[in-house]
Amino acid sequence: MYLTQSLRRAIQQSPNATASIYNGRQRSFTQLGDRVARFAGALRTLDVQPGDRVGILSLNSDWYLEYYMASYWAGAAVNPINIRWSAAEIAYSLDDCETHILLVDDTFVPLIPEIKNLSRALKTLIHLGDGPAPQGMLSYEALVAEAAPVEDAMRSGNDLAGVFYTGGTTGSPKGVMLSHGNLYTNSILGVAEGTVRRGSIGLHAAPMFHLADGAFMNGLFAAGCCHVMLPRFDPIGVLQAIAAHGVTDMLLVPTMIQMLVDHPDIHQYDLSSLQQMLYGASPISEGLLDRAMKAIPHAGFIQAYGMTELSPVATILKPEMHREKGRAKGWHRSAGRATVCTEVRIVDTEGNELPRGEVGEVVVRGPGVMLGYWNKPAETAAAIRNGWMHTGDGGRMDEDGYVFVVDRIKDMIVTGGENVYSIEVESVIATHPAVAACAVIGTPHEHWGEQVHVFIVRKPGQVLEAEELIDFCKARIASYKCPREVSFVETMPLSGAGKILKTTLRAPFWAHQERKVA
Ligand code: ATP
Ligand code: MG
Repeated sequence: MYLTQSLRRAIQQSPNATASIYNGRQRSFTQLGDRVARFAGALRTLDVQPGDRVGILSLNSDWYLEYYMASYWAGAAVNPINIRWSAAEIAYSLDDCETHILLVDDTFVPLIPEIKNLSRALKTLIHLGDGPAPQGMLSYEALVAEAAPVEDAMRSGNDLAGVFYTGGTTGSPKGVMLSHGNLYTNSILGVAEGTVRRGSIGLHAAPMFHLADGAFMNGLFAAGCCHVMLPRFDPIGVLQAIAAHGVTDMLLVPTMIQMLVDHPDIHQYDLSSLQQMLYGASPISEGLLDRAMKAIPHAGFIQAYGMTELSPVATILKPEMHREKGRAKGWHRSAGRATVCTEVRIVDTEGNELPRGEVGEVVVRGPGVMLGYWNKPAETAAAIRNGWMHTGDGGRMDEDGYVFVVDRIKDMIVTGGENVYSIEVESVIATHPAVAACAVIGTPHEHWGEQVHVFIVRKPGQVLEAEELIDFCKARIASYKCPREVSFVETMPLSGAGKILKTTLRAPFWAHQERKVA
């Protein structure tokens, strides 16, 4: 199993179909394949050996798409860089992975002198752009024009396909080694589950460095679909792209869905082409999900739960389970069920499976489980035990196998001996009409250990006071789960992957004492 087989099949079956659309430029599968084989040839002349890492620091583009496929085609392993990292973090990661080659687009060229100063490993820079390459950098377009196409290296199975860094939501990101087998299995999972369909036009608005979008990309490739790229997420860009290109499928993380569906202009665009809205990578509150389903009523919503370490998808909640049938059982609040490629269990701290309905740690087994963390054998051994990937997420499973993620274990709040799961509280708060976004954390409390503290972004023009919000919660959930403190903020701190950084929200409150994690 190797990732390039999807591309080759698409070239064979629909050579003239549109493979990529970016910035007014369209390419067919034949053209894409030709460019991939040529850039792979260029990588070989740059002495890239099987398994060598090739990095990229770029916003989304058709170059990004080519980068992934050409690296695999050349036999290399990808090392996509988080676009929020500082020069020091980038240099650290390049050195950690011994990545000698880095592709860079115009947005990040200004960071290069500092990265070069700090990194020992970085040797060759390749410029992604239509204009001339800056001094000291090779031009990607010139390399593609001049290089001879090469044969696919046909790396497969357990061969390293890439080192993908985790989102960095809970601490410093870890490099996750994924094989061709890991990623390819995950790419056909959506086809097998019926959530990735031939003929789709997929929009990449979430960052392509992150495996949430990476998996969407691999799924679209597996079904021979067309890829539309936006450099970065912005609500209007997304709305325009859907209307202009007849986008049928898109993947967004919940913070992006919130910005999109709360945008005042959403109803001015023709979104009728949109058939599927895939989301995941962090919890979605029921209130936001309802708002989104009302704003785009004709689209099927699909939730995926997973993590980089799982290539990444573990469970899927299908469109019909978001509707009446699922709602009757409360399944629309779940992350769905184990996919055809995964087994999921809920276990206690000793690894024993818990009875249905009890909260424990979500563990996952299957062909998506990573090879291991890059250069971190102890962390790998702690995460994968008896073949089960320990997700660090708390969850429960019902009688039908639906998995309800309750919180990251590190985020759970223990107040006066009671466990409070932030997702439950956030779900209630998000139904308040004045709330655009919210995040619940634990802050220190003299008597109870921790207290429930919520950060709120109000919708524009809405008035909401702390007392009103607390009363709203008290009418809906047990009093110990209700926030004691409310902070109103303009924006939430977000990671490069668009996740709310609770560690950043928590930090000032815990500056002088250590927080105990459940
Ligand atoms: P880091 O591991 O560096 O702290 P991260 O965990 O955010 O960052 P990812 O691999 O991108 O890195 O994210 C996986 C995590 O995202 C999961 O462990 C889970 O906590 C959360 N997550 C993913 N999908 C969902 C979902 N559908 N519902 C709830 N949480 C989700
Ligand atoms: Mg993680």
